[in-house]
Amino acid sequence: MDIIDSIVSKLNGIKKEDIEKVIEFHGCLSPGVLIGIFMFDLAKRILNIDENDRIYVTCETYNCIPDAFQILGKCTTGNKRLKVIDTGKMAVTVNKWGREGEIIKGVRIILDYKKTTKYPKLHAWYLNIEKVPHDEVILDIINAGDAVYSYEFVDILVPTKQKKTIKLCEICKEPFIQKDNETICLSCQN
Ligand SMILES: [Zn+2]
Repeated sequence: MDIIDSIVSKLNGIKKEDIEKVIEFHGCLSPGVLIGIFMFDLAKRILNIDENDRIYVTCETYNCIPDAFQILGKCTTGNKRLKVIDTGKMAVTVNKWGREGEIIKGVRIILDYKKTTKYPKLHAWYLNIEKVPHDEVILDIINAGDAVYSYEFVDILVPTKQKKTIKLCEICKEPFIQKDNETICLSCQN
């Protein structure tokens, strides 16, 4: 059994070709992107996400994890379904589509250091206790399956769309989307 087959065997319905797409998109199979794959898989089960659901994710790191969600969840910065709030944590919050202004249930999933203790290579890598070869970390992540994550439900307020106003900057004369009532673009303000 190759490594991707063993990953698929630990997941609940993510296809081999989709894992391959993630790896190709990210450039390699890194521990972080694999953790992202497991987090997506877990979120999918917890929130009952199917192919037709539009999902939104907030990743708490720029490292690796967002790439799994870009491919598996089709969440991108361009379609506004991917946000990164860089707290430096291996954590994501996922929710389904909701009406503007509505409060909906989302789930925040974290790689739990109290649970990774049972997987020494993963634990050492996660807390940066020692340098561990990535292959060994990856094997621990696969063996652990979903046993190393914790989650809680969170309330999410679906943001309301703001009316789009375009201004010509008074200084550089370039059009920009006005946020408040500013008449000078952000680049010229600095
Ligand atoms: Zn300007």
